[in-house]
Amino acid sequence: MVKDLFLTLEELKELDSYSEDFDSETIGLDEIPITGGRITLTITKGELFIFQGRISFTARLVCARCGEEFEQEFDEEFHREYIFGRDPYDSLPQVELRRQDLDRVYFQDIGIDLKGAIREAVITAIPMAPHCREDCRGVCPICGKNLNYGDCSCPKEGGGGWLEEFLKNKRSD
Ligand SMILES: [Zn+2]
Ligand SMILES: [Zn+2]
Repeated sequence: MVKDLFLTLEELKELDSYSEDFDSETIGLDEIPITGGRITLTITKGELFIFQGRISFTARLVCARCGEEFEQEFDEEFHREYIFGRDPYDSLPQVELRRQDLDRVYFQDIGIDLKGAIREAVITAIPMAPHCREDCRGVCPICGKNLNYGDCSCPKEGGGGWLEEFLKNKRSD
């Protein structure tokens, strides 16, 4: 069977679908722990090779509000098109031009390496500022207590918050 998220031309010839497991190690993603990853694709072969399907995985993330670690499951659409041949942008010095066509990848030689494509899809799926839950209350800006575990005794915002205090002092300058 196919291994290492790499499909040789020989294998591609025989395949019209593909599924494989992955984790952070197999896709070379050091920054975010990924477990239970699975890619399931159908492969349409013609002038282009179209890889269409889903990736699912569990990511261990740090909440942007409260700073606690939590696990989140993802199930995302996956779409990539591969063209056999030389990338016409390869001779151009500006790599920016290639970004217009991120979904379309040129490949040569022995086959298609899905590793980078999966890594990219995983990174894209994960929000920039993940939340451990929709209503995470975050930490108190004064004492730093995680408010998901209960209130602290600091003066509450709203009414006489720091902004009002600040503006008041400013006015009396
Ligand atoms: Zn949180
Ligand atoms: Zn507090």
